Amino acid sequence: MERVDCVVVGAGVVGLAVARELARRGREVVVLERAHTIGTETSSRNSEVIHAGIYYPQRLLKRRLCVEGKTLLYAFCSEYGVAHRRCGKLIVATSDAQVPQLAALKRQAEANGVDDLRFLAPAEVAQLEPEVRCVAALLSPSSGIVDSHGLMLALQGDAERHGALFAFATPVQGGAVRDDGIELRTGGAAPTTLVARTVINGAGLGAQALARAIQGVPAATIPPLYLAKGNYYMLAGRNPFSRLVYPIPEPGGLGVHVTIDLGGQARFGPDVEWIEDIDYTVDPRRADAFYAAVRKYWPGLPDGALQPGYAGIRPKVERPGGSNTDFAIHGAEMHGVRGLVNLYGIESPGLTASLALARDVADLV
Ligand SMILES: Cc1cc2nc3c(=O)[nH]c(=O)nc-3n(C[C@H](O)[C@H](O)[C@H](O)COP(=O)(O)OP(=O)(O)OC[C@H]3O[C@@H](n4cnc5c(N)ncnc54)[C@H](O)[C@@H]3O)c2cc1C
Repeated sequence: MERVDCVVVGAGVVGLAVARELARRGREVVVLERAHTIGTETSSRNSEVIHAGIYYPQRLLKRRLCVEGKTLLYAFCSEYGVAHRRCGKLIVATSDAQVPQLAALKRQAEANGVDDLRFLAPAEVAQLEPEVRCVAALLSPSSGIVDSHGLMLALQGDAERHGALFAFATPVQGGAVRDDGIELRTGGAAPTTLVARTVINGAGLGAQALARAIQGVPAATIPPLYLAKGNYYMLAGRNPFSRLVYPIPEPGGLGVHVTIDLGGQARFGPDVEWIEDIDYTVDPRRADAFYAAVRKYWPGLPDGALQPGYAGIRPKVERPGGSNTDFAIHGAEMHGVRGLVNLYGIESPGLTASLALARDVADLV
């Protein structure tokens, strides 16, 4: 049986950021990932937006980690040459009834320490984004986009430079809490058992299953997992937008918005589809709802311009309609197991927050 100091399970953006942070603090780190490479799940199935930290109620951990994470992420991208752009974002009200919601978002943002939002009249919006129709908008200058894969590669590279080891095609299948650490059993081509002083469960959609498979983690501390799929449609043809354009948020998500990638391609999404089983196919029949949602702020969207794209799945810990969904960082004070941190519900803005989250997790262990 092998002994190691720290094991991080999962090489999504969160696991990678945690592994890098621990390695930089001088810890011995082994990352166990069931896939053949980094970032094959939620971390490569998202909008790649660097969120400003506008929406989240102040009491949520998401709020602090998003605002801190944004600053850390811009600095990291500049230092490590990760492609990104501070392109800014518009949140648009498309009816008079929505205008008070814009004002409420601005107040929320200010309470969150995001004090650079500006109201724009339709004429100002027309100057910035001529294709967008609205009755009022908020401009968020600090919102941006990032190459999520470039980010993950840079995190992996820096973790490895500081001594972290990666084992791919290595699913963690179970384990047990022991007096001298946490035992983990891995599958794959060369199954093994190891005992770690510290284990970070950064398994994303697999976090609950992993926690359940480790004997000695109290079941009552493991939250349920609900799957909220977000589908994307790609814009075929010329992209008329140079900023991100968001409607007023909807229950479960931020509304079908326009994001642009660093190659300049526009995509629309994600919507919210509650599902029972993991399934990433995009149903072409959802297109009608996308045309309707997008045309509220982009009436010029041509017929036939939307092509089914990809989907990602939000690992929610609350049922549809729940409003308290927050990141859950469970250390020993939650479950009583020394050295174990379970990360649940790391949905948006997990990409933006990853570096701040990693710092919090490393502080815990
Ligand atoms: C539709 C959508 C849009 C989003 N848009 C944004 C956005 O624009 N901006 C933003 O900041 N955030 C966004 N997010 C959130 C962000 O993508 C996630 O918070 C983040 O990617 C989560 O990373 P992770 O490392 O926790 O999970 P993942 O990337 O899912 O990584 C988990 C890893 O664990 C591995 N794993 C699981 N079980 C095991 C096991 N037993 N053994 C070994 N390995 C295992 C998996 O293979 C996987 O590689 C979005 C999310 C969704 C769903």
